[in-house]
Amino acid sequence: MLPQDMLTLGTKRSVIRELFEYGKMRKAIVGDDKVYDFSLGNPSIPSPKEVNEAVKELLDTQDPIILHGYSSAQGDANVRKTIAEHINKLHGTNINADNIYMTCGAAASLCISLRALLLQGEEVIIFAPFFPEYVVFAEGQGGKAKIVPPRADFQPDLQAFEEAINESTKCVIINSPNNPSGVVYSEETVKTIAEIMNRKSQQLGKELFLITDEPYRELVYDKDTVVPYVTKYYKNTLVCYSYSKSLSLPGERIGYIVVPDEVTDSKNVYASVCGAGRALGYVCAPTLFQQVIAKCVDCVSDISAYKKNRDLLYNGLTQLGYECVKPDGAFYLFVKTLEEDSVAFCEKAKEYDLLLVAGDGFACPGYMRISYCVDEKTIVNSLPAFKALAESYKK
Ligand code: PLP
Repeated sequence: MLPQDMLTLGTKRSVIRELFEYGKMRKAIVGDDKVYDFSLGNPSIPSPKEVNEAVKELLDTQDPIILHGYSSAQGDANVRKTIAEHINKLHGTNINADNIYMTCGAAASLCISLRALLLQGEEVIIFAPFFPEYVVFAEGQGGKAKIVPPRADFQPDLQAFEEAINESTKCVIINSPNNPSGVVYSEETVKTIAEIMNRKSQQLGKELFLITDEPYRELVYDKDTVVPYVTKYYKNTLVCYSYSKSLSLPGERIGYIVVPDEVTDSKNVYASVCGAGRALGYVCAPTLFQQVIAKCVDCVSDISAYKKNRDLLYNGLTQLGYECVKPDGAFYLFVKTLEEDSVAFCEKAKEYDLLLVAGDGFACPGYMRISYCVDEKTIVNSLPAFKALAESYKK
């Protein structure tokens, strides 16, 4: 006998992966440039040149036994210190090496944080639309996902949020800039989330934890857009960070968790994070890339190509009559589908070789996600296909 839940997860590929595989098959038939694959959130800009230089320098100068060896389970102490100082410099926080646990990307950061905090059956509040794996991660760690329905502008519905908190609640996950909507939460929103959690925490007589999932923190396109550093607003916050998108390193599996001193009983929460890392087998994040990050901690990617893509696609689609909230960050557009059944709409889009992800998987039917981390020419060439698709609904 095998556990049915794992068997189901392993045999049913995610809708996004399914579509990506379909795209590969279709490209082999009609040609790469004839298929407009907007399925995956795989960064399309190269890592900053400093990343490759750091890899080469480390390989050329460091003892390979150490470089490819195990680090401490929670990550190399100097790497953690470097990252802590960087966070303090950017955000005026007071973090040190012992507040940081190195991980294999945001997915590991989230699973470890949830495992460290949740008792069996406790609830995890998630705002729709959301990264579909949140439900898998929460349930995989013994929790229950509780979804707060979306608002039309995809900012969190704070009244519904307050109503969703009950004696079973333990954690709340927020993700800004957001996958799939691209929305960024303002300082006002973060403050209100904190107020609600403080109030409810007091009423219920228990600690409530905020998990902020931040792989897109640096991907914002207007200089006035500020992504608040959440630990400064709510004391029981764990930051789940990853370099997958900010430095275009998704395959290297590198990120971290911050457990600030302000967290109630923070030493034990950090110990529980270490225990969860151990129980899940997420110890000693890739050593070479820990060292690379320490060397490149100040590097930023040139995201002008994403901004250009966002503007081209947003302007192109809205001119064609598609409706969409203009995203401030990440690299997704979340667009209203031209029929209520978004799965049917995305199936129809395939007839035009447009690969779009139905909003249903993000708990938001009636919408589609378009990942614009693609070549500019894919966007330009796709617009006639979007036009033909829209016209097919006018007939
Ligand atoms: N969280 C969000 C919102 C994401 O979009 C992703 C990946 O696309 C992840 C977490 C997982 O990131 P990582 O590849 O760093 O594990």
